[in-house]
Amino acid sequence: MRAVISIANQKGGVGKTTTAVNLSGCLAGRGERVLLIDLDGQGNATSHLGVEIPESEDSTSYALLASAEPDVEKLAVPVASNLLLIPGHIALAEVDIKLFSQINRDTRLARALQPFADDVDFVIIDCPPSLGMATVNALSASTDVVICVQTNVFAYEAVRRLLAIIKVVKKELAPNLAIHALATLHRSTVNLNKSVLEKITQNFPNQTLQTTICQTAALTEAAAAGQTIIDYANGSRGHQDYEKLTDELIHIIGERQKKADDVTLRREVDELETTSSAVN
Ligand code: ADP
Ligand code: MG
Repeated sequence: MRAVISIANQKGGVGKTTTAVNLSGCLAGRGERVLLIDLDGQGNATSHLGVEIPESEDSTSYALLASAEPDVEKLAVPVASNLLLIPGHIALAEVDIKLFSQINRDTRLARALQPFADDVDFVIIDCPPSLGMATVNALSASTDVVICVQTNVFAYEAVRRLLAIIKVVKKELAPNLAIHALATLHRSTVNLNKSVLEKITQNFPNQTLQTTICQTAALTEAAAAGQTIIDYANGSRGHQDYEKLTDELIHIIGERQKKADDVTLRREVDELETTSSAVN
């Protein structure tokens, strides 16, 4: 597994599901093995990919959180070449109560994903519009979180608050979590959208992604058609934006891996030198 990426924001309607589905599609299109987890009770990512929501919650992502020993590999449905989906279910709305008195309730998802470690390159998690147990589990299982920000009038304050909350989760549960903000439903010709994005970029320079996702009807139509934007409108502006996002995230993750490899190599060289000087 190269990365586990949560797509989050406690607000609904900001492009989380659209991002989760189309980022997954773009990664799979490049030959990466992708597992998309629909962790929202509304099951929008599941419908977006044209998959019917299973009747029983035991066959969905609910089991990843609620069941002590979920048979995780059975939950993943192949939807396209290189793309697996674990569907959502309305029962996810009750998961906070279900987990209330359970031990290790924050890290159940991380443990449930272990069987996929060798078989999947990227896990993408579509989070619900809340900061309950499902989102906390998603963050604690993740290497990266992409916060979708609709660049409207209240966006800056919302991002500031969300970043503060995610930093608490990071400190307690996911010390290596990398945080990224992504402007979605963006209209670069609208002054308000432009100035909100500038303010976010200035205040969170290391977190704000360079890619922006434009507002375009094709992305909504693709969702209604049960297709990714790659299949629905290949080469369209919406498709291009999600390819750019894919490039940028792959670059960030690649650079991070290189740095980690350098550190490991340096440590191994140091150890070798210590051992050989001890032998001499
Ligand atoms: P969330 O998962 O945050 O609730 P969605 O991805 O479901 O948000 O998006 C909310 C609505 O906006 C959906 O109808 C979706 O099709 C539409 N939408 C999302 N992103 C875009 C975009 N870039 N351009 C146009 N419509 C979009
Ligand atoms: Mg959604």
